[in-house]
Amino acid sequence: MISPEILLELVPNRDPEEDYPHASRSLDIARDSPGRRIAVWAEYLRYRINREISEDQSIENLLETSGFLATGVIRVPQMDDARSFEGFPTIDGYQFGAVLFRGSRYRAAKSDFVRGISLEHGRLQAPLLQTVATFNPHASYTSDGYICAFYEDEDGENCGITAAHIVESYRLGQRVPILCSDCGDAAKLAARAPGLIDAAKIVFPCGGPGFFGGHNINSTVRGAIEGETVEMHLGDTGKVICTVMLSLSTPAQIKSAAVPKHFLTDIHGHPGDSGSLVSGTNKGQGDPDLIGMYLGDTNCQDETGAFFTYGYSLDLQQAADILGAPNLSGEFNV
Ligand SMILES: [Zn+2]
Repeated sequence: MISPEILLELVPNRDPEEDYPHASRSLDIARDSPGRRIAVWAEYLRYRINREISEDQSIENLLETSGFLATGVIRVPQMDDARSFEGFPTIDGYQFGAVLFRGSRYRAAKSDFVRGISLEHGRLQAPLLQTVATFNPHASYTSDGYICAFYEDEDGENCGITAAHIVESYRLGQRVPILCSDCGDAAKLAARAPGLIDAAKIVFPCGGPGFFGGHNINSTVRGAIEGETVEMHLGDTGKVICTVMLSLSTPAQIKSAAVPKHFLTDIHGHPGDSGSLVSGTNKGQGDPDLIGMYLGDTNCQDETGAFFTYGYSLDLQQAADILGAPNLSGEFNV
């Protein structure tokens, strides 16, 4: 995880001084926590980019030719003064800003890679960077996949949510290499999320984990917050504590001011970890919030050749909504 001291230095020590529409998720957090500080500035930056698209064709062109716009905390080469922007310094190889993720064949002049986004009527400037990004799903031929949560569906069947890429070569109703954590029985594929959402529903013929009691039910499900500390319960690698660095929006989501549906963390798992749960930290008050499903890693290479790898997860609420899954229980893989 990234130290809270570094995170707090990356953005101004206050909320943005311009009115913009807030999503409630960032405002519920303690005012001086890194999650609150980074999240409100990330939300404000997305709002400013959304506004600039209508005024500046070159930004719209950049956005339209990229796969994702990432906002939050970026890994940057250390000691690169050219990247310091008013209000957003580089500290220990981290900087707050936005990055356009491009396909591997993209090449551009160095000057195209860095520009500023004007904030607070020109008082501050946040960097808009570009990087070549490759997403690597972490399913494995040699080990089983995992679920991040289980639930009872409307037919009374005990089901789980996993990553669609783990079960892509299976037909509906077939046994899949995802085992019940209570008894080891294999689950069956029940449904795939439509479109590009990497989620699938499986059923447990054995009754599934939690069937015999002892598991928490009806946990809070919420989106990830840039700058917050989370726990990844990786099925093969084990539990790791990490920081949510960036949220990812498609060009359409930026234009419609939709809440981001994917996020990146400073730590990643390994092939075999796909489908695992990402949760909030348990501060000793009730159950941890359920936040995401681990999908793989993202390799990013910037124009200097610097190479960084992030963990890549799907917002669990998105997966649950699209699969029609109510009242989730977390699968903590313990
Ligand atoms: Zn079982």
